[in-house]
Amino acid sequence: MLASRFFISTLKEAPSDAEVTSQKLMLRAGLIRKVAAGIYTWMPMGLRSLRKVETIVREEMNRAGAIEVLMPAVQPAELWQESQRWEAYGPELLRLKDRHDRDFVVGPTHEEVITDVARRELKSYRQLPRHFYQVQTKFRDEIRPRFGVMRGREFTMKDGYSFHADYADLEREYRNMYDTYTRIFTRLGLDFRAVAADTGSIGGTGSHEFHVIAETGEDDIAYCPDSDFAANVELAEAFGPGVARPSPSRSLEKVHTPGVKTIADLADYLKIPVETTVKAIVVKGDETPAGEPVLLMVRGDHELNAIKAQKIEGILSPLTFASPEDILVAFGANPGSLGPIGFKGRVIMDRTVAAMADFVIGANDDDWHYVGANIGRDFEEPEVADLRNVVAGDPSPDGKGSLEICRGIEVGHIFQLRTKYSEAMCCRFLDENGREQHMEMGCYGIGVTRILGAAIEQNNDARGIIWPQAIAPFELVLCPVGLGKSDAVREHATRLYESLLEAGIDVILDDRNERPGVMFADWELIGVPHRVVIGDRGLKDGLIEYQGRRDVEALQIPLAQAVDFIR
Ligand code: ATP
Ligand code: MG
Ligand code: MG
Ligand code: MG
Repeated sequence: MLASRFFISTLKEAPSDAEVTSQKLMLRAGLIRKVAAGIYTWMPMGLRSLRKVETIVREEMNRAGAIEVLMPAVQPAELWQESQRWEAYGPELLRLKDRHDRDFVVGPTHEEVITDVARRELKSYRQLPRHFYQVQTKFRDEIRPRFGVMRGREFTMKDGYSFHADYADLEREYRNMYDTYTRIFTRLGLDFRAVAADTGSIGGTGSHEFHVIAETGEDDIAYCPDSDFAANVELAEAFGPGVARPSPSRSLEKVHTPGVKTIADLADYLKIPVETTVKAIVVKGDETPAGEPVLLMVRGDHELNAIKAQKIEGILSPLTFASPEDILVAFGANPGSLGPIGFKGRVIMDRTVAAMADFVIGANDDDWHYVGANIGRDFEEPEVADLRNVVAGDPSPDGKGSLEICRGIEVGHIFQLRTKYSEAMCCRFLDENGREQHMEMGCYGIGVTRILGAAIEQNNDARGIIWPQAIAPFELVLCPVGLGKSDAVREHATRLYESLLEAGIDVILDDRNERPGVMFADWELIGVPHRVVIGDRGLKDGLIEYQGRRDVEALQIPLAQAVDFIR
């Protein structure tokens, strides 16, 4: 790119209503211009970074097996009435009427539209799973738009929605997305943390937010430096990654159970038939009718069969335990090691398998189980922590240390929607037995435009932005000094520019013929990570000057080695 043909528009001062560093710098560097509260134009310089973020997000989503679609920004009210969010969503939902007086919304999110697509297109278990995503403009009439693009009213989101035949498959995709988001934010060059998040009205086990760690974040994150525990302090019910712990009051016999990881393995091991009518539910606070024996399986990484059991009967409503003694048997995937995903409703149970001789439960070690165990009697209830009033130094809910608190900017959110929308909107498929079932759904959002602000909050100094290389508007700026006066400078600068382009470097040649001070100030403000200066003084000795945006001093590099050095 030639600067003379591009558009550079920097400001000495940020507008007085700009509150946080990233917002000030984005305005000063000419990345965005404000149109109205929470509504911005992406200027050419900012758009280059935005597109780079989108590209990384698309590459990783495609790689993870999701399929890109593009849904409309304007959506008919009928869909929102069907899901009952027309009433529930409140004033953040921008509603409008067309010329025929029909109601529409400008989409703040797209569960309704995609569920409508799925119920029309996906009819059989053979078409599942499917994960559709888009990179699209959202509108939320935020009560307090602020911090520039970080809390805009119009903003770009990557939103993905997955559809599954059963819960086990939703959990698989949820983990896939957890890993995908981890890759995306790593590639973007951000310092981030995944934290357990509230599932609000949906309940259930699965929701994580991804936060960019920054002082100006609007959320408080509680985390334990000695373990994996991390959660948004909005969480009213926080469980650590490890849950049930053996109670010290009874010593339990441990047996070696190599390869026993699933309900089927265990049935094999115990030589008992496991009926396919296993009933399973999430147990925390739930109860069964008095006297009815139950089989209780601790859910975990390996317990896909147990999770499947939950699907077989489709029991999602809570049962009631009259007493803990009703819980006869528990087994499964080691209650102390439930994997990387924090965990709410912990246990799944079966009311039909009463005939087991020995009670077996996971023993916190791979391939070991306790025998003769009873959850209610032999295991301590895991503590459920309400994090809403937590302060630094409080014990971590997983019992592995004490909590620290930092602030975070929510840049991503993954969520197990379960059947909330498929039930409300009759999104069903025919299973292998020809029975109609509601699809299990997940949704996965990334605040694409917010990421730009968050990246700058994390990477700046007194002179301006310091872009992570992957999302800088240009990777390198070539600043010729005395371009108008020196043929040698012009010639060498042009030639170097072309070789850098050829080497695949995203370079801009500043051919505006500005004084060095002006050029340098502009590019330091804009935050281009690498700068090469080429001038008569150095050229005499065949040298150019290289300086990284974070470097204190420039290096002299032989012109002949410039491309290799930079590459
Ligand atoms: P917040 O808690 O910040 O209001 P949210 O939880 O309402 O966000 P989600 O519904 O989870 O947002 O949307 C997915 C992602 O979209 C968020 O993780 C965030 O990165 C981004 N996002 C949400 N609201 C905005 C906004 N007003 N401006 C820019 N990005 C946003
Ligand atoms: Mg919000
Ligand atoms: Mg939030
Ligand atoms: Mg969220």
